[in-house]
Amino acid sequence: MILSAQPIIVVDLIGSMLMIVFSLLCFERMIRLTLIDRENILWTYLLFVCAALSIFAISRSVGHIVKQLLLMFDYPGLWAHIRPFSGSVNTLTFILVASVTVFFERVWVINRAIIGDRMALREAHQELSWLNRNLEKLVDERTEALALSEKRYRRMFELSGEMIVVTSKAGEIQAMNPAAMEQLQGGRSMGPGAPFGKLFAHEAQYRFIMETLSEKRRMGNTEVILKGNNGRGFRALLSGVADLDSGEGSTLFMLRDVEETLAMREQLATTEKLAAVGELSAGVAHEVNNPLGIILGYTQLLKRSADEKSTLKEDLSIIEKHVIGCKKVVESLLNFSRMTPPEMRACDVRRIIEEVVAISRHQASMDGIEVVTRFVEDPPIEAIYADSEKIKQVLVNLIINAVHAIDGDGEIHITAGLEDSETVFITISDTGCGMDAETRSRIFDPFFTTKPTGTGTGLGLSVSYGIIQNHGGHIEVMSLPGEGTTFTIHLPTATPAV
Ligand code: ADP
Repeated sequence: MILSAQPIIVVDLIGSMLMIVFSLLCFERMIRLTLIDRENILWTYLLFVCAALSIFAISRSVGHIVKQLLLMFDYPGLWAHIRPFSGSVNTLTFILVASVTVFFERVWVINRAIIGDRMALREAHQELSWLNRNLEKLVDERTEALALSEKRYRRMFELSGEMIVVTSKAGEIQAMNPAAMEQLQGGRSMGPGAPFGKLFAHEAQYRFIMETLSEKRRMGNTEVILKGNNGRGFRALLSGVADLDSGEGSTLFMLRDVEETLAMREQLATTEKLAAVGELSAGVAHEVNNPLGIILGYTQLLKRSADEKSTLKEDLSIIEKHVIGCKKVVESLLNFSRMTPPEMRACDVRRIIEEVVAISRHQASMDGIEVVTRFVEDPPIEAIYADSEKIKQVLVNLIINAVHAIDGDGEIHITAGLEDSETVFITISDTGCGMDAETRSRIFDPFFTTKPTGTGTGLGLSVSYGIIQNHGGHIEVMSLPGEGTTFTIHLPTATPAV
């Protein structure tokens, strides 16, 4: 019995020993695998499974070896004692294996999540590496695009024909484009921080604009009078946008010079008015002139035959004086309506002015007024293409008005020169009472006068205006109450083109 069991015992012993060896090898292999990828939870899990199985296999093998050895050396009693322990160790290790496998599903889910996270991380990493590699290029591209856009807007700012001014919320100038620097008073020398309000001819206008902007944030096409670089005021259309949210808040102003356009529109209106009045007055003057001549003739005849000291003679003198006054008005009217085309020829401006001054100087000096002439001869004044008599009539009208405007002592300055290759200018300035805006806007209207009845007809300037227009020139006025008046006449030179 004993002999026949020997091969089974040997196989059991060798098999158990081999089982121990294989379990250890298997465990060692598992450890190596785990070390290759320590962060792989699946490997870790399998390591536990392997460990549990190895423990199970080793405990069983050790049990078998102990059993065979004890039986072989005839200790069956001892084995009977140990056997229950060996069995329970086997059961425990098996429970260990079973409990480890229970966690498989959980470990699998965790592993999937880890793999998902790892993939996302890898993608993010790849994107980051790409960004890192291309960051410099991207920054360069963006910087270039930004510089291009900045350059484009700067060019628009610089090349704009309209004036652009950026101010702070408090109205201090922050930036001005070249058009604004060119046209606004002191624009070229004005540094940042200069008050924008100082460029307005009327402070009230500036205050109104700033108040409207702080309330409504934008305003468009408001007519304002700005101080120009040549010291003169000019009319402009102002649009503004208040950007009060960004940083400290700034306001953008766009200003368009409309002086020339408005002046042309006004000239056109005046010309049309003159033409209409001219037509009307021609008819009236003709009808009135002849009867006036007859009344004057008869009055003078009666005056001659009347007694020298009689009241009749005095009455007739009064009639004569008023009829002469009426005839003067009618003659002006006829002159005005008879706007025949001037007889044009090349004439010397200097000579025309000197002749007019020679006539008027005496009268002026009796009123305490000095007439000063100045000819700007660099470049030399060119001849004008004009009807010299009519130009003299205009100059006489202007000088008479200047004399009337100066109450007491004063000066009249007449200056002439070349404005450009095609235009000659003549200015007549006086130190008289000047005019307010209301008077200034009406002086070229026929019959507009501020002088007492009998002194003014209100036709001098409208006739002068018509004459200059007929010469292809124009006349403008600059005047402020108490600061004198300057009339400027612009006439074409006698160039072949004319
Ligand atoms: P009149 O001289 O007969 O009044 P004008 O047409 O010559 O007619 O002038 C019209 C008005 O223009 C004048 O009544 C005066 O109010 C104003 N005016 C013209 N020239 C001057 C001047 N140099 N200074 C102030 N006011 C002037």
